[in-house]
Amino acid sequence: MTMQVTVLGSTGSIGTNTLDVVARHLDLYQVFALSAHSQVDLLLAQCLQFKPRYAVMTSAIHARDLRDRLAQAGCRTEVLDGVDALEQIASHPDVDAVMAAIVGAAGLRPAVAAARAGKRLLLANKEALVVGGQVFMDAVAQGGATLLPIDSEHSAIFQCLPEDASVWPQRVDHIILTASGGPFRTREPSSLRDVTPQQACNHPNFSMGRKISIDSATMMNKALEVIEARWLFNMRPEQIKVVIHPQQIVHSMVQFNDASILAQLGTPDMRVPIACGLAWPERVASGAAPLDFSKLAALTFEEADARRFPGLHLSWQALRAPEGTTTVLNAANEVAVAAFLGGRMRFDQIYHVNAQVLEGMQPQSPDGVESLLELDAEVRSYAEGVIAACAA
Ligand code: NAD
Ligand code: MG
Repeated sequence: MTMQVTVLGSTGSIGTNTLDVVARHLDLYQVFALSAHSQVDLLLAQCLQFKPRYAVMTSAIHARDLRDRLAQAGCRTEVLDGVDALEQIASHPDVDAVMAAIVGAAGLRPAVAAARAGKRLLLANKEALVVGGQVFMDAVAQGGATLLPIDSEHSAIFQCLPEDASVWPQRVDHIILTASGGPFRTREPSSLRDVTPQQACNHPNFSMGRKISIDSATMMNKALEVIEARWLFNMRPEQIKVVIHPQQIVHSMVQFNDASILAQLGTPDMRVPIACGLAWPERVASGAAPLDFSKLAALTFEEADARRFPGLHLSWQALRAPEGTTTVLNAANEVAVAAFLGGRMRFDQIYHVNAQVLEGMQPQSPDGVESLLELDAEVRSYAEGVIAACAA
């Protein structure tokens, strides 16, 4: 039977890579629904190619535009708009798998809807888990969903860990997330204040969305991944370590109690973790080139420099603080990154905004999605105040 797949955020980097893998296996996967924020042209092309039952756009204006153009082309995809519609395509009874590839906390509600509905949930949208924490994991448990990581590091760890999660506490000593170090790994730290958005988006190995590109440059991406790993693998904060590995061949590792380490390797291509999540526990072709060991030069590893990447350590700080603090960190960072991309703030100020917001806000433990979203909104307005003070 073909698996019915909803792709949330289908016009993004992960979304288009997902459709690339799906297109290789139309006997196995059928697109049930697609969603996009504002890119009507690309979503139209995807609808014409994959003929989903539904397509969702954030705003009614974009939805009307898409609806008119699909009608002209004779395509019967039904177009909806808004967050309720995202929840609907994530939890529809005919859907088997949901790729959560929206960027940021905006993806929380549909990801939780998929979890509650017991779907195979392919999670690329790490911010949803960083914001949601225990609330998110409770939704997965209550809905009986299968949560499969798409972030390449977490997919690697998932592949290295024993399938039976109940043995992890007795066998696993710690996990090691690898990090590329981004475009400024060797740049003089004092010069980071002059970095432009374009330089920061210029990742050495990957073409990714703008938000995650900035997060890679500050290493806040790794900070979010530390928090993501805490929830996915039920690790204590001190069991999660980070090492820089510029070649991005070793995608992450697990160290067991006997000091044996298992790693997952491959070319840096997001279609590998995507194919792994779609097919798990089977394996299907991803379209990625396999590693050619004869052309592989050195694999190197180094410690992350705390002067260059001060934001990385905010993750452990947030994990040790009361619940809700990771929600605060994520919201502060989303606002700070947008301010940098919008030319309202310097690159090095992203860290200062995140640290100041963490210091200034003492969240109550969130007890559900609504209270998480209220906290998220509260932090955003607080962070805007901090940014305005920076710019003054
Ligand atoms: P992107 O910016 O390329 O795409 C984001 C997608 O989300 C687009 O389809 C966009 O239309 C949609 N979107 C944006 N804002 C939205 C909103 N407010 N409401 C509804 N939809 C919205 O981002 P990306 O690089 O594909 O990353 C997506 C997620 O996957 C992020 O959470 C990122 O951290 C994670 N991720 C990405 C990569 C990668 O290689 N790109 C790797 C690992 C994890
Ligand atoms: Mg990653």
